[in-house]
Amino acid sequence: MTDILPASPSPSVAGRRYRFATEVVTVDNNDDPHNAASVPIYQSATFKQKSATAGGEYDYSRSGNPTRTHLENHLAKIMGAKRALAVTSGMSALDVITRLVHAGEEIIAGDDLYGGTNRLLTFLAKSQNIKTHHIDTTKAEAILPYLDPVKTKLVLLETPTNPLIKIADIPTIANYVHEKCPNALVVVDNTMMSPYLQRPLELGADISYHSGTKYLSGHHDLMAGVIGTRDEAIAEQLYYVINATGCGLGPFDSWLLLRGVKTLAVRMDKQQASAIRIADYLEEQGFKVHYPGSKKHPQYELHKKIASGPGAVLSFETGDIGISERIVEAAKLWSISVSFGCVNSLISMPCRMSHASIPAHIRAERALPEDLIRLCIGIEDVEDLLEDLEASLVAAGALPSKQ
Ligand SMILES: *Cc1c(COP(=O)(O)O)cnc(C)c1O
Repeated sequence: MTDILPASPSPSVAGRRYRFATEVVTVDNNDDPHNAASVPIYQSATFKQKSATAGGEYDYSRSGNPTRTHLENHLAKIMGAKRALAVTSGMSALDVITRLVHAGEEIIAGDDLYGGTNRLLTFLAKSQNIKTHHIDTTKAEAILPYLDPVKTKLVLLETPTNPLIKIADIPTIANYVHEKCPNALVVVDNTMMSPYLQRPLELGADISYHSGTKYLSGHHDLMAGVIGTRDEAIAEQLYYVINATGCGLGPFDSWLLLRGVKTLAVRMDKQQASAIRIADYLEEQGFKVHYPGSKKHPQYELHKKIASGPGAVLSFETGDIGISERIVEAAKLWSISVSFGCVNSLISMPCRMSHASIPAHIRAERALPEDLIRLCIGIEDVEDLLEDLEASLVAAGALPSKQ
């Protein structure tokens, strides 16, 4: 059985006046010259100067744009960051972060990474001589043999991982890293949880980043990436890369993300409540379910310690690739789609879709079942979602017909 919803999924956080759900919908826009209630879109590439020598706060949108600044200030507040930076995609966020690593230095990362992350790390190994050690992040001690005070530059964690839902003990790993490698940075990809359910910077991480394409925006109508840190010097280095490479988020997408993020808490509450129901249903039918809210999850207690809810992504095994394909194709309400975090529900087979860029032998090495089905729960009525899922399971022959 899955756990009931936490009593307070929205704890108040030091430095903020209100609980998360209030802060996330309250955007500070007090400096608007016309008292606009919503932050305007400054769709302008350039900003005029008052004189030949006196520059204003903004001059060119690659370097800075007022809509992006408002978004970044708001994201910093909800991430518990000193500074947040918005870029054009989640991968672009990781690209900016990995530019802090130089040739010959090393990265330590998990063994169940997002497919795109894996691709970027492979690229860095081939073209930049930056080696990545992949470890099983469910065992914090597994990192110890790889920590090198000279070479280790980044430790890159995802928790829960996707799609196997493995949990990493962020505080313990961060302690190991900071003790043995004072120059290394602990970086957490927090896309799966969102800052509503988990805030890595408050758990000892140096940098936390998100694909804004997922829960932060919530509607699958934009691509964005967000990086947050509590260290002003790290923020300055990251900003330098963003300005140098030109990957800052444009004004319209900044506005869309600022608009979307306001409903993060209410969306996640609904999506998570439905995910818990669906995980329970699948467990009752005898499927092996991967979900951190399930009491059968081997790291159920650890996840509860570092996050305030299990989220709305789960996966399950059917035991047969053909059956899994038929389930996915029989679903009517669930769209066959990569990605997650949208208000609409999605169904996918990671080995065929989002994780297909990981070579088959490595998927096998990492015990990624080829029959795995991933569900990303949206805000539809949960009874409709359950009915459609059951009909698909029956149509695919995974469950006996009720008649
Ligand atoms: C989607 C995703 C990314 C990449 O983000 P994009 O916005 O698609 O570039 C990175 N990490 C995780 C966990 C993701 O789900």
